[in-house]
Amino acid sequence: MSMTDAAKGASKAGAAKGASKAGVAKAKVFGGGCLCGAVRFEATGPAGKPHTCSCRMCQRHTGSLTASWVEFPSDRVTWTGPGGAPSVYRSSDYSSRAFCPACGSSFGAIDDAPVVALLLGVFDKPGAIELMPKSHSFKGGRPKWWHVEAKAE
Ligand SMILES: [Zn+2]
Ligand SMILES: [Zn+2]
Repeated sequence: MSMTDAAKGASKAGAAKGASKAGVAKAKVFGGGCLCGAVRFEATGPAGKPHTCSCRMCQRHTGSLTASWVEFPSDRVTWTGPGGAPSVYRSSDYSSRAFCPACGSSFGAIDDAPVVALLLGVFDKPGAIELMPKSHSFKGGRPKWWHVEAKAE
């Protein structure tokens, strides 16, 4: 059990990288949901590829200049709200964008991969350190005056 190592928190990134060999002490569950509460989820960590993206698809999907994302294998995401799984719009050959049919909140993307990419804004605790973006995709898609923070930059 690598609980002591995790507790010491030497390096979160390092711990995550070594997780597959060392074994994850205890998987953290991240909850979230839409504005109206019809669609809710529980995603079991660790969260993958925490990043921000300023591509035009993310901008239109979220209405925001930059979207913040994390990924989970789809078998680690459970839709727990009364509305079940979100509605989807087929946005590309390999992915669909997900949203609540009742209130319109954006959840992110459900890929054929099978990967579920969730937007940080729908998490109950969007500030969780494990979800912090580490890179920024499609920087050129943002207005010059829009400052995006990502740990790696
Ligand atoms: Zn809703
Ligand atoms: Zn994007």
